[in-house]
Amino acid sequence: MATLYDTLGVKKGASADEIKKAYRKLASQYHPDKNPGDTSAEERFKEVQNAYDVLSDPEKRKQYDTFGADGRRPGRGPGFDPRDFGGGNFTINDLGDLGDLFGGLFGGRAGRGAGTRRAQPERGADVEVVVNVSFEDSLRGLETKIPVQVTTACRECGGTGAEPGTSPIICPQCNGRGVIAESQGLFALSEPCPRCRGNGTVVEKPCRNCKGTGREVRTKTYTVKVPAGVKDGTRIRLKGKGEVGASGGPAGDLFVVTRVQPSKLFQRRGADLVVDVPVTYAEAALGATVEVPTPYGDRVSLKVPAGTQDGRQLRIRGHGAPKLKGGGKGDLIARLRVTVPKKLTKKEREALEELQKVSREDPREELFA
Ligand SMILES: [Zn+2]
Ligand SMILES: [Zn+2]
Repeated sequence: MATLYDTLGVKKGASADEIKKAYRKLASQYHPDKNPGDTSAEERFKEVQNAYDVLSDPEKRKQYDTFGADGRRPGRGPGFDPRDFGGGNFTINDLGDLGDLFGGLFGGRAGRGAGTRRAQPERGADVEVVVNVSFEDSLRGLETKIPVQVTTACRECGGTGAEPGTSPIICPQCNGRGVIAESQGLFALSEPCPRCRGNGTVVEKPCRNCKGTGREVRTKTYTVKVPAGVKDGTRIRLKGKGEVGASGGPAGDLFVVTRVQPSKLFQRRGADLVVDVPVTYAEAALGATVEVPTPYGDRVSLKVPAGTQDGRQLRIRGHGAPKLKGGGKGDLIARLRVTVPKKLTKKEREALEELQKVSREDPREELFA
C-alpha cells in the first residue's frame, strides 16, 4: 500500500524541507489550473495535498508514523485522511476535534492539549431595564438611580464557590487537566472531566451563600444619566454593567430603555415638537400675532399670516427637543387650528350675520367644478 511518503515521492525520514519541496513540485504539476478537465490529475493533486497536510504537521506526522497503516480502518483505499482516524470502536462524531484526540494520546502536550476542554470564557448576558421619564425630563435630561437585578460574583466567596477560608482544590479525577482520557484500543478518547466539568478544580466545601455556584442575584443600583432629548424607546448602553461572565468572560451590557410619558400639548416628530394652536376665524382670516407655549415653560410670539387655513403648520426654529447627536435643538411646529365658538353673544351673532351677507366666496365651489 502506498504511503504518504510515496505519494510525495520522498523517503520516510525526509526532512521538513524535502517534504515541502516535493509538495511544491507535485502540486504545481497536478494543479487543476494546469490540467483542465483531467480528473486523474485532480485526484493526484488531492492526494498530494492530503499527504502534505499530514506530513507538514509534526504532530500529525508523528501520529501517522506511529499508527499510520495499522491505525486506519481496514479496507480503506490509499491515502491517509486524518478525519478517518478510527479503530472501529467509535465514529467521527464521538471524537470531537482532533486536538482532543491527540491531546489524550500525547500527555506531553500539556498546555495545549490539556486546555482544549477547559470551560471556555463566556460573556455575561445583557440586561435591559425600563426607566420612566416625564416628558419634561426627557427634554431636560436627568440623573436617576435605577435598581437592576443582576447575577454577579458571590460576595462571600468572591466567585470561587468555595466556603470562605477554603479554596477550590485541583480536581483529583483529572489532576487539573479538565479532561480525562479513556483508552479504547489503540486510541485514547478524551472527554471533559465529569467531576470538575472541565474546570480543573473542584470545591470541597461549597460556599453557603451561593451554594457553590460562585454567583448570586443582587440588586445593584446604578446612577444613570439620561441625556436631554431621549425619546420613548431610546436605549442607553452601559457597557459591562450586565450579568457577570462565566469562567473569566467579560460582563454583558446594561441597556436602559426610556419610557417617556406623553405630553398633553406636544407631540414628538424626530427632534421637532408639534403643538396645536387654536386661532379664531377672524385671526386666521385677518392675520394676527399669537403666543405659543414652548415645552420649556416659556412662550414665543408667532405671526399668523392673513388667510391662514386650518391645519397650517408654522415652524418656530430652535424651540424643539434637544438633538441627541450633534447638539442643538429641533423646531417647534405650531399647527394652527381654526376654531368655531360654541356659543355666540348677541353682538357676535349680528356681526357674523353681517359677514354672511357680504361674503362673496363660495367655499364649496370646487366640489361642483
Ligand atoms: Zn476534573
Ligand atoms: Zn459564594
